[in-house]
Formats: sequence, C-alpha cells, structure tokens
Amino acid sequence: MVQRAAWWKRAVVRRGARRPAGPALAVLLAGALVVAGLGARDGVAEQNPGPDRADTPAAARRSVVYPTRTMGTYADVIIVTDDSAATAPAARRAHAVFSRLDSLMSNWTSTSEVARLNRVAAQGPTTVQPEVAKVIEVSMRLWRESEGAFDITVEPLVRLWGFLGGPKRVPAEAEMKAAFQLVGAQRVHFDADTRTLRFDQEGVKIDLGGIAKGYAVDEAARSLKADGVTDALVDLTGNMFALGHPADSDHWRIGIRDPRDRMRYFARVHLDPGQGISTSGKYEQFVAQGGRTYGHIIDPRTGWPAEGLISVTVIAPTALDCDAWDTPLFVLGPVDARRKAKEREDVAAVLVQPGAGVDTVWVEAPLKDRFTLEPAARQLFCVKFF
Ligand code: ADP
Ligand code: MG
Repeated sequence: MVQRAAWWKRAVVRRGARRPAGPALAVLLAGALVVAGLGARDGVAEQNPGPDRADTPAAARRSVVYPTRTMGTYADVIIVTDDSAATAPAARRAHAVFSRLDSLMSNWTSTSEVARLNRVAAQGPTTVQPEVAKVIEVSMRLWRESEGAFDITVEPLVRLWGFLGGPKRVPAEAEMKAAFQLVGAQRVHFDADTRTLRFDQEGVKIDLGGIAKGYAVDEAARSLKADGVTDALVDLTGNMFALGHPADSDHWRIGIRDPRDRMRYFARVHLDPGQGISTSGKYEQFVAQGGRTYGHIIDPRTGWPAEGLISVTVIAPTALDCDAWDTPLFVLGPVDARRKAKEREDVAAVLVQPGAGVDTVWVEAPLKDRFTLEPAARQLFCVKFF
C-alpha cells in the first residue's frame, strides 16, 4: 500500500551494545525492530540508495528516538515531531513511567513491590499496590485462559536456572523437583476487589517478567497521549505500542528478529495505529549444554524450559495483551499455540518452529497481507499460513 520511502533506513544495535545518550535516530530492539522512518546510529545502519529526504514533502516531521535504560535493558520512546526539544519533556515523562514500574515489578531487586510480596505473602494476606494488583489480576486470568501455560509462580524455576541474576546453568534433577513443588498458580490467592494476596505455602514466589514490560509500554503510551503526542512508537526491548503513525506512512514497519541471528530480521510486519507487538525468542536468554539450548521460558506443567518453538510474535490491541500472550504461546508449542491463537480474536501470531535446515514460519491468516519475508530469508524459512 505505502511504498518504501526513498530515504528509508534500517538500523539495529545489538542488546548490550553501548548506546549514546540523548535523542538519536535509530532503534535497538531485541525481538522486533522498527525498520521504517528512522535513521542511523552507532554506525550499524544501512541506507538504501534513493532521492534525498528533502524530496519528501513531509520531511519536516520525523521520528525522533529518545532512548533510555530501564528494567535491565534499553527502551526507546520514538516521537514523530518537527520540534524535538518541544517533545523532549513528554519523552522524559514516558521514561519516568518505566522507572516507576520497574521499582514496582522488578524481579531482580530486593526493593520492589514484587520482592516485598514474595517475602511476606506466604505469612498471611497482604495488600498489593494498585498497579501491581492489576498485573497480577491479568496474570491469574491468563493462567486460566492459557490452560496453565502462563504461570507467574515459575519464579523458583526461573531463579534455579539462573535466569534471575544468574549464574545460568542446568540444575540437578533433585533441585528441579524441589523447585517444581512450589510452582502452580493455584497456590496464589488473590482478591482483586480488596487487592489482597496470599500464598499457600512458604517458598511460593511470583515473577511478573513475562508480562510487566507490556503493561509498562501501554502506560508510557498513555502518558505520551496525555501530553498531547499523537504519533509515537514506544519500544521496550521488542515490546511495542504504536500511537498514530510515522510521518511518511500510515503504519509502522516492524522487523522480526531472526531467532538464529543469521540476519538482523527475517521478516517485516505492518503495525497499525493503536496496535501493539511483541516477540519472545530463545535467543534472548538461554543455557547451552550438551549440544542443547534451554531458554528462559519455562513450561510450568513440566518444570522444564519450553521446547518446540524458537520465536513467537504477537500483534494485539495492547502491548499488555502482546506480552501476556507471547510467553504462553511459546510454552504451548507449534500445534497448541496455533489452536490458541486462532481461538483468540484479539491475538494474531507469528510462530517460528525449528526445522532441519529450514525453519517453518506459521503466520496467522489475518496477517497475510501485512507480513513479508525478507528476500535473504527465503532459503532459510518456509512460510505457512494458518
Ligand atoms: P522477554 O522475552 O522480554 O524476557 P517474555 O515475555 O518472553 O519476556 O517473558 C520471559 C520471562 O517470563 C522470563 O524471563 C520469566 O521471568 C517469565 N516466565 C518464564 N516462563 C514463564 C511462564 N511459563 N509463565 C509466566 N512467566 C514466565
Ligand atoms: Mg511475555
């Protein structure tokens, strides 16, 4: 529909790479990356040949990236603006939303609200801070709707494998068994009306790492909107929400990262105004041992890292829905994830199933017209619609 803009540029800075401070013109993404309307940074961008930007009538407005560090990773607030100084305070307030939610929901520090809940909720009922209560409420609903595949009580297992502060390792069978005893959201008693939480048993702990980023992205977008920003993209390491659209197009073009890291992204999808997207992949955090890799998403039904898929991308009406569903679809594996995604009107999924030589990309039918495999990826992926 909309042509690739002549000055279209692509950029990605790898996770962990040092990034310059202050507004700049490219984007870091872990699971997905913005591939349109953005310029270069850190010398890793490629520029397509073509006429100069000045040829584009809308050149006065462009996507300005306001980067920050939060939640142990990078985040970008991208605002379409013709005056980057004027929009800087709105970007700073959106960054502040990330800090606020990090201090509430971080599973890495001992000072967060979640850490406090994990210390006291087995001793008796405790009142939960309102925003954390909201996320716990959604998590408990998701546990039921995902047939137990999404379960915030995986914390003891996530910690045991070293995915919460390390060191990462394959645990011994006995340790696995002991941690697994503590897993199961039926051990969590949460009353949303009174915001009261209680755990059944000492040692039960929750981890909101599979959903908190999505909530944070929606809240940051809400803050931007309240500040009068009409066109922006909030990107918290691959969890994104589109407010409006870029200056040169009626949608955002998002690259989906190659789960095997052979190229920057293997496919692109269109993201319309008012939509979220997120990707969960095995490449983000894993333990490798004995020729096998174990990812950071745990199957709460077996206690073992989930197998069967190497990447799950979800497009949905909110970033919360996206982050919420990418994790359980990953757990459910290729067959059940397709069934579940089809069953849910609000969720559109792209699943990557590993194969010998060629991986299968399962693209949900409603995404057919907005999904494009990169030419360089054609030998490596086989696309199937479902
Ligand atoms: P990201 O890829 O951005 O880290 P994900 O949405 O993929 O986030 O969630 C992964 C995180 O979710 C893990 O690091 C862990 O904290 C938590 N987690 C792992 N397995 C599950 C599960 N089955 N249900 C809920 N949360 C999980
Ligand atoms: Mg998630």
